[in-house]
Amino acid sequence: MITFYPGPSKVYPQVAAYAQEAVRSGVVSWNHRSPGFMDIVKETVRLLHEKLAIPADYHLALVSSATECWEIIAQSLTVTTSLHPYGGAFGKKWMEYAHRIKPMILPGEADVLCVVQNETSNGTQVRMDTLANFRQEFSGLIAVDAVSSLGGLAFDWSLADVWFASVQKCLGLPAGLAVLIYSPQALRQAEVINDRQYYNSLLFVHENFANYQTPYTPNGLGIYLLMRVLQQIPGIAEVDQLIRKRATDWYRFFETETNWKLLIDQPELRSDTVIAVQGSEEQIRAVKTDAQKAGITLGNGYGNWKSTTFRIANFPAIEEWEIEKLKTFLRTYELAAPPV
Ligand SMILES: *Cc1c(COP(=O)(O)O)cnc(C)c1O
Repeated sequence: MITFYPGPSKVYPQVAAYAQEAVRSGVVSWNHRSPGFMDIVKETVRLLHEKLAIPADYHLALVSSATECWEIIAQSLTVTTSLHPYGGAFGKKWMEYAHRIKPMILPGEADVLCVVQNETSNGTQVRMDTLANFRQEFSGLIAVDAVSSLGGLAFDWSLADVWFASVQKCLGLPAGLAVLIYSPQALRQAEVINDRQYYNSLLFVHENFANYQTPYTPNGLGIYLLMRVLQQIPGIAEVDQLIRKRATDWYRFFETETNWKLLIDQPELRSDTVIAVQGSEEQIRAVKTDAQKAGITLGNGYGNWKSTTFRIANFPAIEEWEIEKLKTFLRTYELAAPPV
């Protein structure tokens, strides 16, 4: 069975061997304050900087999920409230979550702007030029949810103060770990707010990570797998090129070789890493079932588009032969049962 589900998504095939390695060598039983374990954390942080081309002065921490990052931003980085220009289900969820912690009173008072770079629910993305405009117009911190694009696309990191992603999407790993990246400016804001109330208060996490440790026992297996995958993948510039080319090919494929309608009409809004395809409820149900029979899992729709779209992950762990197999399926499916 091959999967195009956009999260949890296909893991790199090598992960099986890395997991075995972690158990056999005993890494998973190491104390998280032991020198050996700290070396793994240190190497993971170094590789993240290197492979993703993250500026040297941006800090890194590993936490449990992207949802936890939403919480950390609201608790430790937001003075009054946050502003959420959103276009899909994850952006809305983030806003609702953040406003439960720091309620919105007056929009003009917001000191953090929260942007979902890649809206996994409907296959849209906020490009770097839009982010650059936000940067010019907004004087506070900018936080970017890049859960379904970090590891696939190259970013201009300087356009935001906080970036984060859980690892089960574009990074091709099992769930239960997230990467949190924050600028010196974000750290200064955390120091001003001085939130130390929670186990995951950013200053607390930051101080622990300065020693390559965590406040609590971390997901050691997840960190080890992240380190091994980072060792294996090429630098982000190369991955970015591949992902953009595959995205262009996917969109061209749907427009010229099928009758399916893309959910997003404007090409400049379309995501490079999650492709959303629209149809009637009947068509969507049928294509998902028939794909399953052919050994292919398509992503369900999400939120408002749950039953009227299917989604295809365009993540780096997916291999060329898998993409060809899905294209062949969709081509022949087209002839057997025209969708429109
Ligand atoms: C999946 C997803 C999340 C939630 O990630 P968790 O690891 O489940 O917390 C948040 N934002 C976006 C854009 C996502 O795609």
